[in-house]
Amino acid sequence: MSGRADVAVIGGGILGLSHAWAMAKRGKKVVLFERGLRASGASIRNFGMVWPIGQPAGMMHQTALRSAALWREVLTAAKLPFFPTGSLHVGYHEDEAEVLREFAEKGPAAGYPCAWQNPAQILERSDAIRPDGLRGGLWSETEMTVDPRRVIAGLPEYLTELGVEIHFGEAVRRIQLPVIETARGAWEVDQAIVCSGDDFETLYPELFAVSGLIRCKLQMMRTAPQPDHWQLGPALAAGLTLRFYKAFRLCASLESLKARVAREKAPYDEWAIHVLVSQTADGAITLGDSHEYSQTVDIFDRADVDDLILREAETFLQLPDWRIAQRWHGVYSQHPEKPFFEAEPEPGVHILTGVGGSGMTLSFGLAERTAENIL
Ligand SMILES: Cc1cc2nc3c(=O)[nH]c(=O)nc-3n(C[C@H](O)[C@H](O)[C@H](O)COP(=O)(O)OP(=O)(O)OC[C@H]3O[C@@H](n4cnc5c(N)ncnc54)[C@H](O)[C@@H]3O)c2cc1C
Repeated sequence: MSGRADVAVIGGGILGLSHAWAMAKRGKKVVLFERGLRASGASIRNFGMVWPIGQPAGMMHQTALRSAALWREVLTAAKLPFFPTGSLHVGYHEDEAEVLREFAEKGPAAGYPCAWQNPAQILERSDAIRPDGLRGGLWSETEMTVDPRRVIAGLPEYLTELGVEIHFGEAVRRIQLPVIETARGAWEVDQAIVCSGDDFETLYPELFAVSGLIRCKLQMMRTAPQPDHWQLGPALAAGLTLRFYKAFRLCASLESLKARVAREKAPYDEWAIHVLVSQTADGAITLGDSHEYSQTVDIFDRADVDDLILREAETFLQLPDWRIAQRWHGVYSQHPEKPFFEAEPEPGVHILTGVGGSGMTLSFGLAERTAENIL
């Protein structure tokens, strides 16, 4: 045997890291295996938005709020940056303003501390919003931004300080408890937590084949750091986003917005585009995204999809420097009906993946839940 631990975590993305933290915090000896020399899956490719306001009311929203609190605790202890800036959803069309007003009315009773803001109030909160045509928006203080590349690179170091043993460049090939077989050897463990993202082929392929999980490809862009330490302030979303996040299904007015977008902006439905805006620790602006659902990910990115994203961003965002410095795509796994996918293929083995576009938001909350369930 190469070693022995209480718990093996498979995957060095945010779900793997948060689960390793939750187990180590509870006194377990943890070993984490990441097949890459560094994790380069969905968790370093995202906006870093910890976004409770996007979660549907009830259990998922509560998990997201708890997760945000845990993020703060962990990043403070790890001395990694985060930006508790809150969020703004802005409306330029009357139907967008209607949904946002309705959400501001109904949201607080459903547990979302948020408020409608008139254009002057919005512009007070953010220099990044275009004033022309602005009808108002929704302010919420519960959202924060983390820097995904800094977090995914920095958390392993912090976990190591907590006693977690981390093996990069070591894929797990087989689990048959108590043995974990990796590319380099074999470990003896009591439990295994599999957070393998959208890898459906390596571990438990038969289970994943019938799981209903699908892949989603998203195109993303980033500007260079903005000049003169320009600050975005609250992370931003606009009208198209209201179609995406289940929280807004509270609003009866949503249907007419969706119908108008389908009528007037068909390519935005075809590529399932909405526009989110966040800022990194070094001041760059992250912009995206599109959604292509398919088991086979097209490795070639589409310039026309990036153009649609940028065109939409320009309707509400003003930046000192729009030059795009980086383009990439990310892939996540998602279940068509469930907010996340979990399974126990054999006693002591727990699979958690399929968190879709909310993995950063939910990670620490879900990890706490797993720990409470299995320990
Ligand atoms: C473009 C984009 C933008 C997004 N924006 C946001 C956002 O702003 N806010 C938000 O909440 N969510 C966002 N998401 C979703 C979020 O990024 C994902 O839900 C989350 O990162 C999934 O984390 P994960 O750990 O499950 O997967 P991953 O980050 O993909 O990690 C899985 C890891 O497992 C490793 N692995 C797999 N199999 C093995 C094996 N057998 N042995 C060893 N290692 C293995 C892989 O190498 C990989 O590093 C976004 C996603 C994308 C793609």
